[in-house]
Amino acid sequence: MRVGLTCLALLLVSGCGVLLPSRQAAGPSPAATPGPTGPAGERPGARPSPAPSPRSTPQPRPISCAHTKCVALTFDDGPGNYTSHVLDVLAKHHARATFFLVGEMIHKEDGPVLRRMVADGHELGNHTWDHRDLTALSDAALNHEIVRTERLVKEVTGVRMHALRPPYGATDRRVADEARRLGLGQVLWAVDTLDWRDRVPKLVVRRSTAAKPGQIVLMHDIHKTTVEALPRLLSVFDKKGFTYVTVSELFGDLKPGKRYSNR
Ligand SMILES: [Zn+2]
Repeated sequence: MRVGLTCLALLLVSGCGVLLPSRQAAGPSPAATPGPTGPAGERPGARPSPAPSPRSTPQPRPISCAHTKCVALTFDDGPGNYTSHVLDVLAKHHARATFFLVGEMIHKEDGPVLRRMVADGHELGNHTWDHRDLTALSDAALNHEIVRTERLVKEVTGVRMHALRPPYGATDRRVADEARRLGLGQVLWAVDTLDWRDRVPKLVVRRSTAAKPGQIVLMHDIHKTTVEALPRLLSVFDKKGFTYVTVSELFGDLKPGKRYSNR
């Protein structure tokens, strides 16, 4: 992983002959050992090209979810092979969402898709480096899981994230304290589509669209069946008159350390 990260940093400057792992072969690896290295960009002398200024991208809209039927769609564990298509479908429905990114899933070819998320008004959230149960880690490893992804996403997009989604929803006082120290709200969910387990588009449509106003819906953009369900579930939400919001739009500014699942 050290080679991959160093290469990513170098690629941003001048191109690098070392291949990063292909996305197909990679995935969140809960059983992997924590990498000993720091995030990309820590290597002395490796300076990435400047990411676009966050100021040039859409800001959270002042939507009053107390008076509007809001839903916060969230997509975890990417970026993956389908993420770009997910962005196309969301754009057709003028829908904003929140993408909780896994650091080790971010490969060199993902820069454009991450920057497009930002340009399209979506929110980026931290889903740790390699999808560990944060409650089971040492203090140092817990910090590393979060900070490593924060730094990489900042480097690639220019965005400082404000939302943390602990893998498996596993959190405790220590995770909350670390999230608070790092300025991250803990974003869980109210509606679990279980799309990782039940790979059936019609179930994803039915479960997601059962959301009530003000709720967060959990999905995964790495599953083909979820992506297949997306146009239909958005049509259902459209007919019901929902407005699609990011998690920061749903709650206003996220309070560091606080847990959120619905308004
Ligand atoms: Zn996850």
